[in-house]
Amino acid sequence: MISVEEALKIVLANQHETTVSEVPLLSSVGRILAENIYADRDFPPFNRVAMDGLAFCFDEVDLQKIAIENIQFAGEAQKTLQDISKGIEVMTGAILPLGCDTVLRYEDFNIQQDGKVKFACISIPNEEIKKGQNVHLQGSDRKAEEVLLQKGIKISPAEIAVMATVGKSIVKVQNTPKIALISTGDELVDIEETPLAYQIRTSNAYMLAAALQQIGVAATTFHLIDEEKVLYQKLKEIIESYDILLLSGGVSAGKKDFVPAILTDLGLEKLFHKVAQKPGKPMWFGKTKAGKIIFALPGNPVSTFLCFCKYVLPTLNSEIKHEEVILDKEIIFKPDLTYFVPVKTYFEAGKMMAKPFLGSGSADFANLTDCDGFVELPAEKQVFKAGEIFGFVRFR
Ligand code: AMP
Ligand code: MG
Repeated sequence: MISVEEALKIVLANQHETTVSEVPLLSSVGRILAENIYADRDFPPFNRVAMDGLAFCFDEVDLQKIAIENIQFAGEAQKTLQDISKGIEVMTGAILPLGCDTVLRYEDFNIQQDGKVKFACISIPNEEIKKGQNVHLQGSDRKAEEVLLQKGIKISPAEIAVMATVGKSIVKVQNTPKIALISTGDELVDIEETPLAYQIRTSNAYMLAAALQQIGVAATTFHLIDEEKVLYQKLKEIIESYDILLLSGGVSAGKKDFVPAILTDLGLEKLFHKVAQKPGKPMWFGKTKAGKIIFALPGNPVSTFLCFCKYVLPTLNSEIKHEEVILDKEIIFKPDLTYFVPVKTYFEAGKMMAKPFLGSGSADFANLTDCDGFVELPAEKQVFKAGEIFGFVRFR
């Protein structure tokens, strides 16, 4: 049986290779960028006036009273200061007039008329005026040709703005894989039905579909009965049409847990079966020769969800970061397994604490509604003290 670390490593090393599409800029939000984005010019592309006011040459003017000779609006070609002892009124977003290096805000002077000449009479102390102020220098944010966005990031409105400014009207994005969610089990009925005394409604496929929906990934759901021939035939068909299969149930030691054997019969390569963890020990992972990926997760809802969050999500969502929490209550767990305990997080003195909700085990998914994630207690230890820091698998 392999460790959690090894299992995750194998999963991450065997991801589905996504194809690339070109889409209009706005359709790329929420998708994964499939190309680097470069600055087509400096950021900003010219010395940009950052405040409405007066531009002048700091070393050449009388900082009490400056004659105004012109006005430079945003969107106008650059003007030139004719008399270096004078100034030019400027608007935010305008190119700084040639000969000027400093901008004073309108709030810091009054305009007075003296015959035909307008003057700026400065109302703040000279020491408060700094050479170069309120000028956003060309290339001070980014230089032309610099990589602005790296391939592989998730596109959000900030990235859309950057791509708009460099003129990317068409963007290369990764295609989202086609995912099939397959629940198995003769005891399961769909949610519109009233279960008989010995049946339950299926919840796993809905839980996983919802988790995928939250990251913008659509999936098709199937339900298969615990019947070898049916499983073989249906899985064969589904594998043809989908890139990633997420199965739940039928991977443990029960007499009708046919899934691992059927997957092998279908010619899939088993990359692991069983992970030293609780819950989710019977998890199976493999791939087809064509690179399609199969996650067969145990059916107990807490196990299904933990395995999904720990192993499946990181392959679909590049934004998942390693997080840690401080356990707020001692837990003793002797088996040589990594123990994932549902926890509710909260802040105390600026630190993220985790309150365990042991519940009644891997079938107690109602327990998850009180929690935000799982604290990951490593297999090597048996006593996990209050105040110790551990990994955190977030689901909320
Ligand atoms: P299995 O992994 O097939 O042995 O199932 C383990 C437990 O999880 C059983 O109690 C099943 O009834 C339950 N289970 C399996 N699949 C689902 C599902 N789709 N929704 C809710 N519970 C399930
Ligand atoms: Mg089952």
